Amino acid sequence: MERKLLFAPSMRCCDLFDFERQVKFLDGHADFLHIDIKDGNYVKTFGVGPDFMAALKKAITTPMDAHLMIQHPQEYIEACAKAGASYITPHTDCIESDAFVTLNKILSLGCKAGIAMNPAAPLEGIRYYLPLLSKVTIMIVDAGYAGQKVITQMYDKIRTLVQWRKDMGLDFLIEADGSMNAGVYAPLYEAGADVVVLGPPALWNKDPDIEKAWEIMEGEVNAELKD
Ligand code: MG
Repeated sequence: MERKLLFAPSMRCCDLFDFERQVKFLDGHADFLHIDIKDGNYVKTFGVGPDFMAALKKAITTPMDAHLMIQHPQEYIEACAKAGASYITPHTDCIESDAFVTLNKILSLGCKAGIAMNPAAPLEGIRYYLPLLSKVTIMIVDAGYAGQKVITQMYDKIRTLVQWRKDMGLDFLIEADGSMNAGVYAPLYEAGADVVVLGPPALWNKDPDIEKAWEIMEGEVNAELKD
């Protein structure tokens, strides 16, 4: 295995009754802490907000990524930066009319800029601002809804993005988000994904004990990547 797959657990999935222990464990083991911020509008479910990140920030050192599934991300960028986000990641279709203004604002606040794109969003739409990005999050299911089947055409989308990154001499990370579980690590890794976002099916549902759950998840990843 030459590359390592990086892990970004979605922190709102931590068990509230075992929260402190899970946060400390994940802070010590994850590469990024993924924060799903949803507004009930861009997606029809709710997530956590900048106040959740600000509270976590007091106890963690791992970089936090604010995944903004919200209609008007521009209004929350400063709050996310102030709350301690290292990466701020709006969706392509929420910054279509002011992509450069929005991404430059993220950078001016000392954060790294990411972009998230739903499965139907065309890669062509991000080409011009790729040089501003530190991370591209490819949603492998529609954002905001649990329990969907992985859209396998997204592996090709990742392959194309890997090629663009090489052609353009850039070094942004490529992250896959949505319905993560055993069975998709190998195709994602082979396509060129650098980071996977872990939700309940990939991690928390494996065992009530986070240490055991992490061990199971890592075992599944390692088994798939060595074949
Ligand atoms: Mg997410």
